Amino acid sequence: MKVLAEALFLFQNLPILRNKKTLSDWQKEINKFIWGRKRARIKFQYMKDDIRRGGMGVPDLQIYYDAAVLEWVKEWAILRKTRILALEGQDLNKGWHAYLWKRKGFKEKNFNNHYIRKALLTTWERYKHKFYRKTPLWLSPLESEHMREIPRERWLTYKHLVREDNHGISIKPYEEVKQLEPSITWLNYWQINECFKIDNQIGFEKNDTTWDKVLKLEKKVIKVLYQQLLIWETEEVYVKDNMIAWAREFGHTINFEDWEKCWQKKLKYTYSTSIKESWYKIFFRWYITPVKLAKFNKGKRGEECWKCRKEKGDLFHMWWGCKKIKRFWRKIKKEMEIILQIKFTLKPEYLLLGLTDFHMDSNNEKLFIYMISAARIVIAKSWKTTEIPSLELWTLKLMDIQNMDNLTQIISQKYHTRTKTNWNNLSRYLKEKWNLEI
Ligand SMILES: [Zn+2]
Repeated sequence: MKVLAEALFLFQNLPILRNKKTLSDWQKEINKFIWGRKRARIKFQYMKDDIRRGGMGVPDLQIYYDAAVLEWVKEWAILRKTRILALEGQDLNKGWHAYLWKRKGFKEKNFNNHYIRKALLTTWERYKHKFYRKTPLWLSPLESEHMREIPRERWLTYKHLVREDNHGISIKPYEEVKQLEPSITWLNYWQINECFKIDNQIGFEKNDTTWDKVLKLEKKVIKVLYQQLLIWETEEVYVKDNMIAWAREFGHTINFEDWEKCWQKKLKYTYSTSIKESWYKIFFRWYITPVKLAKFNKGKRGEECWKCRKEKGDLFHMWWGCKKIKRFWRKIKKEMEIILQIKFTLKPEYLLLGLTDFHMDSNNEKLFIYMISAARIVIAKSWKTTEIPSLELWTLKLMDIQNMDNLTQIISQKYHTRTKTNWNNLSRYLKEKWNLEI
């Protein structure tokens, strides 16, 4: 989008927007343009999501603004453009790091009387605890405590200063620190130790977070930040919304952690984009239904189900409640039981979302996911028609998935070892039921 480059230039050079109104007005204009000034048919939340996750990658200006702002904050964190930093921070009582990572009892005084500084810090505050739950290793205890009387070119960070052994994490001995930076005095060393005592109360972040990666980047900083912020934005708001909507229809709550575990597992099994897409679409309740269409058309079209033509066609009816579709699921469930040689009850959370709570070995778990994916894909293919997919169609789709799984297995063998799917159960079933030899 052409406008994006221009907006980004502005954000990077003038990160001083203190309220969200300006950005949301611009966003509204862009969205109006996308929909040709008509009513939007898809929630902006879905549209802005990453293309790889089933979204459409429409830029979210607020997140781009935040990413551009964080790129500035990055300079404070790595203490590089020292001349600009010295100029912008001439009236500060403490070092930049003191403001970025405030210790208990820290009192902020004149930081916010600077227009740009305040805008930048506000944004950083919003995200910093998502980047770090523990003290980051890029923090420099001396920089945060210094009073601006001794200009330094290089500040030792915790990464340089701490070491870890059997007794846990501690500051390196004075001699060692002195070797790293000859200008360090006993007083400095004492200061470092005092800061360490406080910072170690919550421990240190040993894994590299996205922010650590950003600090090493020279290019594409905004892009990397944008992707991360977008993930947070989308998972926090609408993942939960959708889960709640499903739970309401299932008639009981879904444990968010169970759901997350299940979802990660599913995405691990489904490396094919078409299967992944189908998962996202069902979870995010993407499908157009007669009820939704009737709303768009202001009641000019009926909202009855396309299959039975009787009942109200909301999402849950179209996927599960409808008598005709239920008959299909009953058939599929029966076949699944034969293939997997297990028994389970007919529940929408099992067959639609794969949220199973009964025991299966990991191979069966994988086959289960493939089988319900095949069912959903064939249902979606005849979505707006009166047709109900046949058992044959489902079987063919499943064989398709099997082929793809085998091919992926061959291709990916070189790079990483994936546990090979055992398809014997399906082959036996195909032979017994359809007289097919594979
Ligand atoms: Zn129906």
